[in-house]
Amino acid sequence: MPYRVRENLFIGNISDAAEILQNGSTEITHILSVLSSATISFFSEWRSGLVIPSKEIKKVYVGGSDTGDIGSGSEDASGGKGSKSSLSPEKLLYSLEYAGKDLKMVRMAVPLRDMESEDLLDYLDVCFDFIDQSRKDGFVLVHCFAGVSRSAAIIMAYLMRTEHLSQEDALESLRQSCEFVCPNDGFLDQLKMFEEMGFKVDHASPIYKRFRLKVLETRGESYNRGEKIDSSKFGADPGLPSEDSSEVEVPSKVGNNGTPAYRCKKCRRVVALQDNVVDHIPGEGETSFGWYKRKSGNPYIKSDEFECSSIFVEPLQWMTAVEEGALEGKLSCVHCEARLGYFNWSGIQCSCGSWITPAFQLHKSRVDISTV
Ligand SMILES: [Zn+2]
Ligand SMILES: [Zn+2]
Repeated sequence: MPYRVRENLFIGNISDAAEILQNGSTEITHILSVLSSATISFFSEWRSGLVIPSKEIKKVYVGGSDTGDIGSGSEDASGGKGSKSSLSPEKLLYSLEYAGKDLKMVRMAVPLRDMESEDLLDYLDVCFDFIDQSRKDGFVLVHCFAGVSRSAAIIMAYLMRTEHLSQEDALESLRQSCEFVCPNDGFLDQLKMFEEMGFKVDHASPIYKRFRLKVLETRGESYNRGEKIDSSKFGADPGLPSEDSSEVEVPSKVGNNGTPAYRCKKCRRVVALQDNVVDHIPGEGETSFGWYKRKSGNPYIKSDEFECSSIFVEPLQWMTAVEEGALEGKLSCVHCEARLGYFNWSGIQCSCGSWITPAFQLHKSRVDISTV
C-alpha cells in the first residue's frame, strides 16, 4: 500500500503502482514513475504477463521545447537552447501518457537510475510541476522501484521547496509517513545543494557549476582514453559574440552588462567572465593541512594569509586541449597562444592550499581583470 505523505500526495513502490494501474484506484488519479526506463513496458519486464494499456500524450527531450500543458516552470530544466543543465542533449526528460485500466490514470515517467552519480537536480522542476498539477486535479502517487531512494528524494525536494524545510528536516518529516525511506548519498548531496541554492535549481549558481563539473567528470571517463569530449556542455566562449548578437567585434560585446571579464594579458582577448569562475574558499580542503605544515610549520595558521594565485573556471569552449580528451594539459590563449594556465581532471592545488577538482586554472599573472 502506498504511504500518505501529505494531502493528495503518496509514496510507494512498483507493486503499488502496478496494482493501481491494473485495477484502478478510488483515490489515486496521477502517477509519477521514477524508474530506470520511462516506458510502460518496464512493468511487463518486471512481472511477465502484466500488460498495462497506455496512450501517449507527449514525450519531452532535453533541449527540446516544452509544448505541453503541465506547467510553466519547466523550460529551464528541459534545457532550452543555451541552458546549461547537466543532462546530455537529446536525452528523454519525461514522458506523459494516459495509462492503466480504462486509460483513466495520468502517468508521467522520468528515467532515473538509483545511482549516486545520477543527475537528480535537473529532473526536479518537471516533477514539481507534475506533482503540483496532480494535487490540484486529484491524488498523486510518486513511486520508484523500491519506494526507498528515488521517489523519496523527489518528495523530499518537493517538501523542501513547498515548506522550506532543510534537507535533514525534509527527510525526518518524510520518515514520519514512511519510516524506511533512504535516498542514496548522491541524492542527499544534491538535495543539500538544492537547499543551499534556495530551494531551486539555479544553473548560474557556483554550487550548481561545481555539480555540473562533477557530472561531466563522471560521465567523461573518455578523458582517460584520450577520446574527444562533447564540449557542448562547456561554457560558451566569452570571447565570441553570442548567437543572438549581431555584433561581430569581439571586445565591444563583453562588459555591456558590467560583468567583470578576464582577458589574456598579452593580446587582451576575453578568456573568461566572472560568471565562469568556480569559487573556492581559500585554504579549504583536506590536503591543505599538509601544505601549511610544510610551508610554515604551523598547521593552524590563518588561511587568508595566502592569496590565491589563480582563478578556477568551468571548462569553456575555447579550451580545445580539454576537448581533445587529455587528462591534463596546458591552457593557452586561443588568439595568441600565450600560456594562461593548466587543467587537470584529477584536480590542482591552489596556492592557498585548496584542491579544486576537476581544475581549469588561469594564472592571475597571465590575465587582466577589467570591470567595464
Ligand atoms: Zn585558492
Ligand atoms: Zn592572448
